[in-house]
Amino acid sequence: MVKPVILLFRKDLRLDDNLALASAVEIGRPVVPVYIREPESGAGPLGAAQAWWLHHSLTALSKALDKAGSRLVLRSGHSLDVIKTLLTETDADGVYWNRRYDPVGSGIDKALKAWLRENGFEAESFSGQLMHEPSKLKTGAGGPYRVYSPFWRALEQQGEPAEPVAAPGRIAAPTSWPDGETLDDWRLLPTKPDWAATFTEVWEPGEAAAQRRLADFIDEKLAAYKDGRDFPGRDVTSMLSPHLAMGEISPARIWHATRGLKSGITDSVVKFRKELAWRDFSYHLLFHFPELATKNWNERFDQFGWTDDESAFEAWTKGLTGYPIVDAGMRELWRHGTMHNRVRMIVASFLIKDLRIDWRRGEAWFRDTLVDADPASNAASWQWVAGSGADAAPFFRIFNPILQGEKFDPDGSYVRRFVPELKDMPDKFIHKPFEAPLLVLKEAGVTLGKTYPKPIVDHGKARDAAMAAYNALPKAG
Ligand code: FAD
Repeated sequence: MVKPVILLFRKDLRLDDNLALASAVEIGRPVVPVYIREPESGAGPLGAAQAWWLHHSLTALSKALDKAGSRLVLRSGHSLDVIKTLLTETDADGVYWNRRYDPVGSGIDKALKAWLRENGFEAESFSGQLMHEPSKLKTGAGGPYRVYSPFWRALEQQGEPAEPVAAPGRIAAPTSWPDGETLDDWRLLPTKPDWAATFTEVWEPGEAAAQRRLADFIDEKLAAYKDGRDFPGRDVTSMLSPHLAMGEISPARIWHATRGLKSGITDSVVKFRKELAWRDFSYHLLFHFPELATKNWNERFDQFGWTDDESAFEAWTKGLTGYPIVDAGMRELWRHGTMHNRVRMIVASFLIKDLRIDWRRGEAWFRDTLVDADPASNAASWQWVAGSGADAAPFFRIFNPILQGEKFDPDGSYVRRFVPELKDMPDKFIHKPFEAPLLVLKEAGVTLGKTYPKPIVDHGKARDAAMAAYNALPKAG
């Protein structure tokens, strides 16, 4: 009897370009695909929006496995406990998986590998979540990268990511299947109220949808990416981030799909790949600084005088700050579980600098509400905006929410979409209704303080207060 091998799905809910799966199939033994819902914070319990995504993603994966003659076994518990039980139940003698790079996930997997090997089982882990191995890509001095540009150069120098491997057509099944839990019992979906109902206006989780997104992006949007990616009213970015966060598509597959395209769009291809590389850079930082989500990379910021204004925080979360571009972003987040990158930077700057609320509160809010919530990209980006991160924007670059709105949403189409009470404001005042003459407000049906809030802070004064708090920090040593 040929013993089966257990294939553990982690952050790689896909059949395509899945090296662990391809290797398990290649050795010609029966495969038992398993997904474990882990209780460890940071590995298992996801934010609410991503839990919604996970439900649908696992449903899609399960169907894809069925089609290939296999199945997805669901279990909950600590990985090592679950695997020990499954090894007995299935008589498997090996476990394969693709590596994770977040501190919780990689810690669990390391312990699992050690136990398996010590006990005579085969344990094989593969790459696929990133385009580089954070432990291997090193600076000339032998340490980790802290600055993006040399990281990008090093990534380029290591050559293109490995050629993606195709999804296996058939996956050999074991003679008998172990029992699994049912997805509905995991209660990942919201019920009363079903606040995720509007997510389907823009999202379809799952590997097949991710591949369609990629194809549409290349055909219809990529050419306009370089010049258009900063404008939230233009639909030119890939929208692949939640698919990447769940591993429904590999970064290598995306990279290779942008090869050999017509020459006129080279600049857009490079820009896009550089953004994709920011994801790798964020993981590089997280891997070498596991406390990225909880501690200032730059310890100077430990002394920063944050305020504790609960009502301001609530206004920010609800999109009721009185600054239209900020409110549009926060409402996009609530309605679709996402937010355009430029607007993420604006709302984060507003929270940290105008409201002087600790970036970690913003990071946690995003983690709960974003469908693409990612332990590396989210934490690194918040620290980038705060100025406390590695290779961060300087603190004194404080976004003016009016000017940012006017520059990147010049016709106000993004604001009108998500803040409908301002839809009839003329372009001139769409980003500053508080400066509009009363007659203009009246004609647009806007009553400040009633139909739309007055600004909760004066940006000019808030800016000065932020700079004062920054200047009070101990000087860099
Ligand atoms: P595209 O422009 O099409 O880019 C392609 C891919 O590159 C993205 O899917 C993403 O995987 C990666 N990418 C692009 N920009 C960045 C970036 N700045 N940092 C890291 N990776 C990037 N991204 C997340 O995936 N998860 C998060 O939790 C997250 N939190 C963020 C929080 C803040 C405060 C900010 C400013 C940015 C955050 N980002 C996060 C980065 C970025 O906003 C999103 O990756 C991007 O908006 C996703 O849209 P897209 O797929 O259309 O991107």
